[in-house]
Amino acid sequence: MQAEPQAFDRVLSSMCTKPHPAAREAAERFLATNPGDPGTYPAVAELEARAVSLLGEVTALPDPSGYVASGGTEANIQAVRIARERSDARRPNVVVPGSGHFSFRKAADLLGVELRIAPTDDDRRADAEAVCQCVDDETALVVGVAGSTEYGRVDPIPALGEIARDTDALFHVDAAWGGFVLPFADRPWNFADAPVDTMTIDPHKMGQAAVPAGGLLVRDERLLDELAVDTPYLETTAQATLTGTRSGAGVASAVAAMEALWPAGYAAQYERSRANAAWLAGALADLSFDVVEPTLPIVAADVSSGAFEALRNEGWRLSRTGAGELRVVCMPHVSRAMLESFVDDLAAITGRASAPLANDH
Ligand SMILES: *Cc1c(COP(=O)(O)O)cnc(C)c1O
Repeated sequence: MQAEPQAFDRVLSSMCTKPHPAAREAAERFLATNPGDPGTYPAVAELEARAVSLLGEVTALPDPSGYVASGGTEANIQAVRIARERSDARRPNVVVPGSGHFSFRKAADLLGVELRIAPTDDDRRADAEAVCQCVDDETALVVGVAGSTEYGRVDPIPALGEIARDTDALFHVDAAWGGFVLPFADRPWNFADAPVDTMTIDPHKMGQAAVPAGGLLVRDERLLDELAVDTPYLETTAQATLTGTRSGAGVASAVAAMEALWPAGYAAQYERSRANAAWLAGALADLSFDVVEPTLPIVAADVSSGAFEALRNEGWRLSRTGAGELRVVCMPHVSRAMLESFVDDLAAITGRASAPLANDH
């Protein structure tokens, strides 16, 4: 059977991308290793420490601890688990903005914590006021999203961190997708000056590593101890990860991608993605679609479901937001030529022409 997708030239929906060539090569070399058993596989265990240290550089979290997880879902579940273990509330709650990823629902289900969803503001970001309304003395964790899955929005991280501190809760930032573009995006803070306790950042998304390579970072090593269970038959005595056997390929590819791309390669990629998203938003607006202006490089627009289906039939891999908008993620494999061809197809399918052309008739 052939791998899917064969090529990425019509994939506009995915948050994953073609692995960087160095990442692909490293993944193959480490295919048969298991970082879950560092006594047997010490080389990949060393690489994992290197991965965590590089993720600290990318996120400007000084000297973090953590590990390479199976993805953002596992990292988010583990962050909720740390907070639950820390809390002495009878029924701990976790406050997540409405833009939070559905993995927090899985976490709440698994861990028996109450999930409180705080409404977002007019720009689809967490509303600090609304988050304030949700927290109480049983709040174990406040979550901020730095690069939301649907619209690429960045929450007011320092303000949310302050709410968490005032509530005596931990503060988690979900930068699963946004983590590798945030260092280059315009914003008045970085993670070094916000009180972030735990963070999710996925090398297998914008980091251009092979799947599976997610990341969980914690500011203080002792937070990981909350996750540790005894491991009688391994050389090491405790394990903090959720899964046992893990992908050495993911770990090695994450390191290879970051060594190849941090910081200049990621900076250049961010600039390409940003320019593509701005171009696409402009082109869709010219065709008179309602566009959600991108902040990080994800574009959403109000395209009818008929047009959406017709585009899918042309082979475009597309996805929709919860509100039904068409959503395009400007990943590294998404080129300007691809977007031009996509916009041409959309114009043909909907019989729309861009405003300047229309004026020529
Ligand atoms: C993709 C994503 C996740 C989930 O990550 P997986 O690697 O798919 O498990 C979590 N949070 C955000 C913000 C995401 O974009």
